[in-house]
Amino acid sequence: MQWILGYLQDIMCALQINSKKEKITHEDKCMSKVCTKCLVEYVDVDGNFNKCKKVKSGLHSWCKQCVKQYRSKYHSENKKELNEKRREYRSENKEIVREQEQKQRSKDRQKYNQMRMNWTIKNPEKVLLIKARERVKLKNLEMDITENDIIIPDLCPMLGIPLISHRGKGIQSDNSPSLDRIDPKLGYIKGNIHVISVRANKIKNDATTEELGLIYEYLKSLEKAA
Ligand SMILES: [Zn+2]
Repeated sequence: MQWILGYLQDIMCALQINSKKEKITHEDKCMSKVCTKCLVEYVDVDGNFNKCKKVKSGLHSWCKQCVKQYRSKYHSENKKELNEKRREYRSENKEIVREQEQKQRSKDRQKYNQMRMNWTIKNPEKVLLIKARERVKLKNLEMDITENDIIIPDLCPMLGIPLISHRGKGIQSDNSPSLDRIDPKLGYIKGNIHVISVRANKIKNDATTEELGLIYEYLKSLEKAA
């Protein structure tokens, strides 16, 4: 009797496994889709099929790859005709084409400006380095500093005002950081640079310590006389 029980148990077990297997494959089939052109079955349906409103399933019956191949083949085989059609359309709809192109250009410009702005906000040290490089070329100065040599403090070491990197429109203010050469006779070389505010840099310009002292003394004497 026991062997019969064991046999029955084995059958039950096999049936259970089979039903589970069936379930899994059925669910898998629902989650996947077969391309009717290349017959490849894709699990990532959304990633491999374009949306199509004309059909019930809402998805194109060909996979993205097959659609792409068909389109490029069609284009290369019908280049002349397509170009002719395009030329015709453009000459008949000059105004529309011009408007569309203008819109695209302004969109591209906005996108480019936004990208540039985001980059300058994220990379204030690099911005200072690029500007220094321009001055080096103009004034024929020496330069050996890298981005790592540029440290932007929270406050201007000369005036104590907060240093605010280009925010938003990239407009320079008195609080913007600027790269200054400690000894103006030397170039942008290691040990000869510090970051100060644009305001401090404007005041300092290329004056020596002596000159600044003389200006200070003169202004003080005027104050006393008044
Ligand atoms: Zn396909």
